[in-house]
Amino acid sequence: MVTMEAAVRQAYCEMPNIDNLVNALMEGRDGKGLLEVCHISLGIPVKPMLAKPSKGISEVAERLGGKRFTGEWKYDGERAQIHVISRDNIKVYSRNSENMTEKYPDVVKVVQDCLCEGVESCIIDSELVAFEQETRKILPFQVLSTRGRKNIVVEDIKINVCLFAFDCMLCNGQPLVTETLEFRRDKLWTMLKETEGKVTMLADAGCQLTKALDMELDAADKLGNVRSKRYAMIVDDGKITKVRKECPNTRQCAPGTFMANHIDRHYCGKCHATYCFKKDE
Ligand SMILES: [Zn+2]
Repeated sequence: MVTMEAAVRQAYCEMPNIDNLVNALMEGRDGKGLLEVCHISLGIPVKPMLAKPSKGISEVAERLGGKRFTGEWKYDGERAQIHVISRDNIKVYSRNSENMTEKYPDVVKVVQDCLCEGVESCIIDSELVAFEQETRKILPFQVLSTRGRKNIVVEDIKINVCLFAFDCMLCNGQPLVTETLEFRRDKLWTMLKETEGKVTMLADAGCQLTKALDMELDAADKLGNVRSKRYAMIVDDGKITKVRKECPNTRQCAPGTFMANHIDRHYCGKCHATYCFKKDE
């Protein structure tokens, strides 16, 4: 049973439109009935989930203790919620729900080109980052902010934009907002094709952050790429007492399948996957 307060919050996040919300409430709808009419919809930007700075590692430990988590870069770009209403009707919205479609005709084209077969409609959350194609370098946000807002023609664009896709909220009419982040990520990978300099999946492109945190796991032979190790933190009395590694073979092993540590490898007792550490030679 959804409480009324939770339902109103959820309805407003999914469809931030006061008129619709008030109308639905005036009709005397209960929590469930409210969500039947005020729900995530193509062409209406959802309230975005925003990043919050942390006061320090103890706060992080408190929030993530016992939970599974992922670590990624925070990019200095422009947040973009992309609504593929149909393949010929794509809209780009800012973090403040402004329509930025005219500012980013190049992004519309990239999405059009990179959508996977079978995807007719979807909502994708992403960060648009200025990107220099020749040097493959990320440019500061200021570079992007010099772009005009209207009547932009693709041929005249001098600053390339790379789309860092990190979430999806709807696919082919199916809302995904109540699914786990992990489920949505897996879904996202099947919706948009990763394309060099245009579309990057997972914010940790090239695994730089993963490597910096020593979380790198070479799963090339099993999964075709380098992945971040998946961790679960055990927190006792505000202190991290243990960080356990989960099996990254999500096709066979459910979350919470932990790996055994050996000197030179991690071993999964369930799917028998063995991940060896790279040795320095
Ligand atoms: Zn396994």
